[in-house]
Amino acid sequence: MNLARQMEQYLPRQLLELVQDISGQAAKPGQRVYIVGGVVRDLLLGYPNFDLDLVVEGDAVKLAQQVAKTSQAKLLAHHRFGTAKLRYENFTMDLATARKETYARPGALPTVTPGTLKDDLIRRDFSINAMAISLAADDYGELVDPYHGKNDLEHRLIRILHPGSFSDDATRILRGVRYEQRFSFEFEAQTAQLLKRDIPMLDTISGDRIRHELELIFKEKQPELAIKRLGELGVLAKISSFLKGDGWIAEKFDKARRLKKPTQLPSLYFCLLIYSFSERNIEQFLARLNIPAKLSQVMRDTLRLKTSLPLLDRPSLKPSEIYYLLREYEPLAIQANALASESPTVHRYLQLFLTKLRYVRTALNGEELKRLGISAGPEMGNVLQILHKARLDGEVRTKADERKLALSLLLKLKR
Ligand code: ATP
Ligand code: MG
Repeated sequence: MNLARQMEQYLPRQLLELVQDISGQAAKPGQRVYIVGGVVRDLLLGYPNFDLDLVVEGDAVKLAQQVAKTSQAKLLAHHRFGTAKLRYENFTMDLATARKETYARPGALPTVTPGTLKDDLIRRDFSINAMAISLAADDYGELVDPYHGKNDLEHRLIRILHPGSFSDDATRILRGVRYEQRFSFEFEAQTAQLLKRDIPMLDTISGDRIRHELELIFKEKQPELAIKRLGELGVLAKISSFLKGDGWIAEKFDKARRLKKPTQLPSLYFCLLIYSFSERNIEQFLARLNIPAKLSQVMRDTLRLKTSLPLLDRPSLKPSEIYYLLREYEPLAIQANALASESPTVHRYLQLFLTKLRYVRTALNGEELKRLGISAGPEMGNVLQILHKARLDGEVRTKADERKLALSLLLKLKR
């Protein structure tokens, strides 16, 4: 099958000319360049994907160096892995030397040696990701599909390439579920069986790698689908016995996505994922996934605040009271609790803090207070705090109001 027409149709002209140029520069005896992986799959499905991965039968780093010399691309080379990244103005392109992998033991990083395209494809996770398109002039656009990925795409199946695949690398369990849910595919029968058999192999995977796969799931349009499925399969329980993938998660993830500014969505998903945990059992989870310090803090804060929410469930708290209850928590932890809480009152207070109270500042600063006769030190601290509190509660609205209040405080202090 030839995909030249689909390439014309789905890939931007600029990108197409670029890969043709790269392939042209490689045209030495024996050197061939292929598009591989997700883009081939998505091209056949008719989905846009400009995340081009190229595999070179030959030396990918040398080729990338040569291409970088004759274009404005920035080069990032990893000699040790035989890979290189070319960074252009609007996109990046990954080039990798075709490689052969063997696993010394389950979960270990593979031993890598140069190989053919076929070697490079068999080391991949699923048949639908193990297809390539040739860029060489003599068979430009030809689909290379030794493991029948196209057939599996047509039958909507996720299939591993050999029975030891999940035990070699159990992150493929998480990857498989991600694709299954993204495309609404099914696991091929034997793959499904082996997946279940090899769930215990997740114990051989490092925290960083499991976390990375969860992060990839959190980039999906509806990560809750994969989370729910991982729950049903018993994968979540293998990662942490306290994890659940229930309907609550689905509802809250969906709500999180509707927020106005979802830039920190992945972190928010992490907080919601562990919302049912106690403050004690979160530590085990943070350690298992090697969660970075900053996010760990946000997740701990989420649970600490959850424990304190009853203090906020009172109908007529003053803004300053809300402020002092919440100021020591990470904003993201407050956001997570706002999504999680079922009390309209609590929700309103948390939202008020996030959108308004945390930004409230006094109009007068220390310098100006000094000029009014207030001395630096604890006295100044006290006055500033009273002004701030009055601001929060709307008792002062203008700079003149603050000056008046500061002077009356000064008078009291003098007496
Ligand atoms: P998408 O980015 O849409 O999820 P992709 O196919 O581009 O899909 P990547 O995670 O970018 O996925 O990986 C690129 C390719 O590398 C995959 O298509 C797959 O062939 C291969 N790959 C990635 N991770 C693994 C793994 N753990 N085991 C085997 N092959 C893998
Ligand atoms: Mg990709």
